[in-house]
Amino acid sequence: MMNYTSTRNNQISVNASVAISRGISEDGGLFVPENMPWLSYNDLNILTDSDYTARASDILDRFLGDFSTGEVLDCVSQAYTREHFETESIAPLYELESGVYLLELWHGPTCAFKDMALQLLPHLLSVSMKKTAPEKTAVILVATSGDTGKAALEGFRDVPGTRILVFYPEDGVSPMQKLQMVTQEGNNVAVNAIRGNFDDAQTGVKKVFTDSAIKQELADHGMVFSSANSINWGRLVPQIVYYISSYCDLIKNGRISAGEQINVVVPTGNFGNILAAYYAKKMGIPIGKLICASNANNVLTEFLQTGVYNRNRPFYTTISPSMDILISSNLERLLYDLSACDDAKIRDYMDSLSSTGRYEVDDTIKKSLSEHFWAGFCDDSGTRSTIRSVYENNSVVIDPHTAVAVNVYQQYREKTGDTSKTIIASTASAYKFAGEVLRSIKGENIPSDQRALIGELAKLSFSNPPKQIASLFDKPVRFKGVCNKDEMKKTIFSALGIN
Ligand SMILES: *Cc1c(COP(=O)(O)O)cnc(C)c1O
Repeated sequence: MMNYTSTRNNQISVNASVAISRGISEDGGLFVPENMPWLSYNDLNILTDSDYTARASDILDRFLGDFSTGEVLDCVSQAYTREHFETESIAPLYELESGVYLLELWHGPTCAFKDMALQLLPHLLSVSMKKTAPEKTAVILVATSGDTGKAALEGFRDVPGTRILVFYPEDGVSPMQKLQMVTQEGNNVAVNAIRGNFDDAQTGVKKVFTDSAIKQELADHGMVFSSANSINWGRLVPQIVYYISSYCDLIKNGRISAGEQINVVVPTGNFGNILAAYYAKKMGIPIGKLICASNANNVLTEFLQTGVYNRNRPFYTTISPSMDILISSNLERLLYDLSACDDAKIRDYMDSLSSTGRYEVDDTIKKSLSEHFWAGFCDDSGTRSTIRSVYENNSVVIDPHTAVAVNVYQQYREKTGDTSKTIIASTASAYKFAGEVLRSIKGENIPSDQRALIGELAKLSFSNPPKQIASLFDKPVRFKGVCNKDEMKKTIFSALGIN
């Protein structure tokens, strides 16, 4: 049976439902599969002839040891439906130019790639809870700087056995993100603004999460805290699927022959998305280079080039905000794998990171890093000029995160001359960042009103805005609550009906 161990203690062995319902190991480490399933030539043939749901079920079944095949299929078929995704193919490829493809991961309910995982995770969690803590309701607490909160709300909305509460900084999210959250539908959801910044929201949530009196109070009411953050294995495993699926699509459409090596480019923040591509490679998908694209917060570029991780640097707020990160949590999983499961070494690195903000990996790991990865970054002005040039040369409008990836891919092509077929992960719809995108293409002379911006972008791109965004303006506001950061407990209890 496929079990999971901890990156900081490889004596631990738990099954998939425990790994998913706990989220993080008690030693602070991350859960990783004890071995990687291998896809044979024949497996790949079968996957190639299947649709997205069947591909996802097949792949997840190999990872979720204590889930029955029926349970896996059930979860997957509730997540990847036409009700939630705009396209039949779920994650379609768009040919940007000959041999270069955008993997569009933003056709879900919130128009960003986090939907790919957060539409599925709640169902995986719901089944995991049934196995590990039957009869209990999972209470998900989220502190968000914008995108994750909305994607989690959409994913958990009306999923049996779950409640979700989201806190966002009152003045720390974009008008569009706020509108998305305060109009959220569903009977098990609650959204609250907090007077403070994202860190205040995050710290507050962590405090509540670890408060034993609050936990006890919840337990007395049949509830238990759980988390949906990006280190949960249940968020990573759905992301492996679309890399395998897109490789199958390239074969199916005659773009590559089976076994042909491709490159993958990923705009990276917390290192989850690109790690999923690395796992796909380990499962047998012939991926040459994994190209890691960062914005001005280029801590990963430096790390992948030198083996030194150093978070002691300025933090930049950029126009690709979902990549504004200085600690990429999921990197720990990669290091565990590249160190041949040396948990003591990982503990050393992570201790050093928390005490000095820095660590340097050994020569063996450095060698593997340069074998699998290539890294680059671009700042806001590079991002803007890429949005403009892709619009002018390829007649397609891309969002700032995708633009960072395209920019870094161009750098890679220029430096290496490698013309292998390439998949670039496109992580958000341009409509989600309409203001920045329009400004990049047309300059400062653009409308200030959100609705007008969306209309303008539609004209420019000869497309219709996704209905998830167009319909927001007509939805009633359901959540007007604002609380101080020391009132979170009260707010949570009142949302849960505890007093
Ligand atoms: C979260 C996010 C990313 C970064 O993905 P990681 O898995 O954190 O590396 C990139 N682009 C968008 C639009 C995102 O929302």
